[in-house]
Amino acid sequence: MALVVQKYGGTSVGTVEKIRNVARRVARTFDEGNEVVVIVSAMAGETNRLVALADEISEFPSEREYDVLVSTGEQVTISLLSMCLQSMGYKAKSYLGSQIPVLTDSAHSRARIKSIDDKKIREDLQSGTILIVAGFQGIDPAGNITTLGRGGSDTSAVAVAAALKADVCEIYTDVDGVYTTDPRMVPDASKIEKISYEEMLEMASLGAKVLQIRSVEFAKKYNVVIHVRSSFSDKPGTLVMKEDRDMETVLVSGIAYNKDEAKISILGVPDQPGIAAQIFSPLGNAGITVDMIIQNVSQDGKTDMTFTVPKADCKKALKIVEVIAPKINASGIKHDGDIAKVSIIGVGMRSHSGIAQTMFETLAKEGINIEMISTSEIKVSCVVAAKYTELAVRVLHEAFGLNKLESGE
Ligand code: ASP
Ligand code: MG
Repeated sequence: MALVVQKYGGTSVGTVEKIRNVARRVARTFDEGNEVVVIVSAMAGETNRLVALADEISEFPSEREYDVLVSTGEQVTISLLSMCLQSMGYKAKSYLGSQIPVLTDSAHSRARIKSIDDKKIREDLQSGTILIVAGFQGIDPAGNITTLGRGGSDTSAVAVAAALKADVCEIYTDVDGVYTTDPRMVPDASKIEKISYEEMLEMASLGAKVLQIRSVEFAKKYNVVIHVRSSFSDKPGTLVMKEDRDMETVLVSGIAYNKDEAKISILGVPDQPGIAAQIFSPLGNAGITVDMIIQNVSQDGKTDMTFTVPKADCKKALKIVEVIAPKINASGIKHDGDIAKVSIIGVGMRSHSGIAQTMFETLAKEGINIEMISTSEIKVSCVVAAKYTELAVRVLHEAFGLNKLESGE
């Protein structure tokens, strides 16, 4: 007998018929002799509808009331799913986050889970009851309802699995797993059988569409095995878990891209101690997250400093840089919003050489100019002109043998 935590996202519980489908799957898991705790999201589109209502009634809705409102979508789905299971003859019981309780801090709309009391859950499981818990929500020490940020029911599920030391945390969604790259861009992308937490975090731009990134951080911390799979099929999905030896034999696990950054260069910056701090402290203070930074070796005591920021923050960053540039005697500023960051990711890079080389040669063969390069232990990223995104992703996907046929699927 295993303890299984299952999470069903909005599209999986989007209609009454789909809730019935979920109930059948939950019942089957229970009938196979497992203890089952289910976490659900609101019906697809419901949380957006609630957010829009708040915006309509007030320009600045209070954060406390916002959470009271947007947490209601999950109250509907937990009760409907529980009723459905009961009508099928099963013992089922629904709980709001506040009833468990799922204790969080007081940061409304982006609260972090502090602890989960497992007493009620264990008692119910012992009496043969299937538990249905509302995702996305909790309660703070003062008794206020909190929510965990959009997509937060993934994190609820992983946290419940961690608290119960569940055998597995299955996350059911409308895709059947994590792919080697965006399948809409490369139809030959293949499903990854298992991927390490670190790779999944680096793949944010791909993975975030499948799992809330914070849930992966949580799973990594508590060593929860996540099985991402489709609620519309029985095929196994992708396991997100601790790195193992097989994973290292794969050189590159996935190709990610990000078109949401812009590049800013400050030219002819004096090569002196303290200059980088003078440039980046005001950006940091303004809440702008700088991603890649490249500083050249100086020539004649001058150097260029190039970095990327989220596109949405580019104007704000330029304003700040325009103030700093004259102060540090820089000779000019350039910026470019038409860029994309293409990354190859794999834990195999730690133990194999020549991987970056393959990336550069592959891009060169297509005449794609590399504007910036950055590396980490398990990732190499190149900034290229945005118009080459698709081509770059496609040729890299092929060069690293990730196409479906080559991987034997
Ligand atoms: N219902 C919430 C949202 O739409 C939480 C979730 O779906 O994970 O963001
Ligand atoms: Mg979701």
